[in-house]
Amino acid sequence: MPEKILVTAALPYANGPLHLGHLAGAYIPADVYVRYQRLKGSDIVFICGSDEHGVPITIRADKEKITPQEIVDRYHSMMKDSFRRLGIVFDNYSRTSLPLHHKISQGIFLKLYEKGLIREQTINQYFCTTCNRFLPDRYIEGECPYCHRKGARGDQCESCGRWLEPDQLLEARCKICGSMPEKRATTHWYFRLSEFQKPLEEWQASKPQWKSNVREFSAGWFSEGLTDRAITRDIDWGIPVPLEGATGKVLYVWFDAPIGYISSTVEWAQKLNQPERWRDYWCNPETRLIHFIGKDNIVFHAIVWPAVLMAHGEFTLPSEIPANEFLNIEGQKLSTSRNWAVWVDEYLQSFPPDPLRYYLAANAPENKDADFVWKDFQTRNNSELADVLGNLVNRSLAFIEKNFKAKVPPVGELLPEDRALLATIASSTERIGKSLEEFQVRRAAGELMDLARAGNKYFNDSAPWKALKTNPARSATILNTILQLQAALAVLMDPFLPFSAEALWKMLNAPGKHSSQRWYEVPNLRLAEGQPLGTKEILFHKIEDPAVQQEIAKLRKVAISG
Ligand SMILES: [Zn+2]
Ligand SMILES: [Zn+2]
Repeated sequence: MPEKILVTAALPYANGPLHLGHLAGAYIPADVYVRYQRLKGSDIVFICGSDEHGVPITIRADKEKITPQEIVDRYHSMMKDSFRRLGIVFDNYSRTSLPLHHKISQGIFLKLYEKGLIREQTINQYFCTTCNRFLPDRYIEGECPYCHRKGARGDQCESCGRWLEPDQLLEARCKICGSMPEKRATTHWYFRLSEFQKPLEEWQASKPQWKSNVREFSAGWFSEGLTDRAITRDIDWGIPVPLEGATGKVLYVWFDAPIGYISSTVEWAQKLNQPERWRDYWCNPETRLIHFIGKDNIVFHAIVWPAVLMAHGEFTLPSEIPANEFLNIEGQKLSTSRNWAVWVDEYLQSFPPDPLRYYLAANAPENKDADFVWKDFQTRNNSELADVLGNLVNRSLAFIEKNFKAKVPPVGELLPEDRALLATIASSTERIGKSLEEFQVRRAAGELMDLARAGNKYFNDSAPWKALKTNPARSATILNTILQLQAALAVLMDPFLPFSAEALWKMLNAPGKHSSQRWYEVPNLRLAEGQPLGTKEILFHKIEDPAVQQEIAKLRKVAISG
């Protein structure tokens, strides 16, 4: 029985387009991992969707004088399109504004409520008499009670990273009109997170293999002591609290967003016409549930969400939370408010998707923050993708076209160097697989490139152009061997470079689809002797200096200095 794996990537928030920080943090590593597991033949489902509730969306809608629905419609379709063009293939990409998600979220809330794990509390909360509204989350700004920085938001201090409740802010002001709010009584519902400290600590102690950023961050929260958290808000955009007397209250976006993983899986099963199939994954203790996230989401995925799952009692808990660090841009912290960011749709106007996928994989912020540098991106494209991988393919196929009528040359007696290359294919396949099992995408990308390097070295050392004059059969054997390497590469490339992998498979005119091959069969792949090859094309184009200079200039021009 193949392993059951449910992979989620953090639901992107539908109040802006995707940028490279999103890709490096969650989506590229998740897609690389999922593509590898699909090639392995695992029983895997890859789930995502747009996170469409919460205050930042209503603030943007207020600003643009349109409805929140119009905001999320716009960014949902933009993000979906960007994912498609990047070759990030989810089994289902849903959205949290769907009635299905509302129903499931309300059901989970009610179940926790009935179990006594949600309690009601009346608190004094900021109310703006000018705007005539309560001021939850980002509707309010003030001084952080911990680090005393000004401009902290009502939900979180960006400076020290603390999760705040709006009434903790000092010197609070209404974000919309700037006036000093007053405090008014309002009723909210609190999730009894404090009761889950012990089970959460025990559960995390059983995960020694987890990344240190997740374990250390959680340990910090545990040592401070978990407190109950308000999971409702006074706004009108979101999922209505399903209780009598809760008119005008919605669920807090961080309560409903992770439930989106479940509702997107339910939607996937419905689309397959097997409406109960989602339970095979979510209600199955054998399932490996893997959440790919950026480090800013650790608290929700490693503490709050597992506590909700424990409280509910019928769902599986996360097995792995491979959280990545941040991606900086040209040496500075990525900032959407300052427009210091590289946007995916803008990138795709100028460059193909694969070089970006490769660069973000090979330079993944796995154990520390990484830096996206345009010059470095150019170098890795030109000196690795074009000069190593592309060149190996190009010169060997050109040689076969010229000297072997563009057909797979016959293989003769294998010499030790031929056997060594074939053995390298086998060991690289195993090594790349092992790295990906351990979520070491960066190392895996390096191992893929090393295999292409080994191919170039073999080609140089065995010099088939010399053998052609003295021993044509030997030359044929060398080219045959190098074609077998390329067939292997076309499959092994798929997690990182899916578009180029498909193009290479076509150029080899190999039967079937590259993505239908099996990972552990890769060392045994053989192109048949005499089989005609497909049409040769350039796999990776070099990126010239002006193109890169233009991107750097664009970034510096639009960035708001600050
Ligand atoms: Zn602070
Ligand atoms: Zn106001």
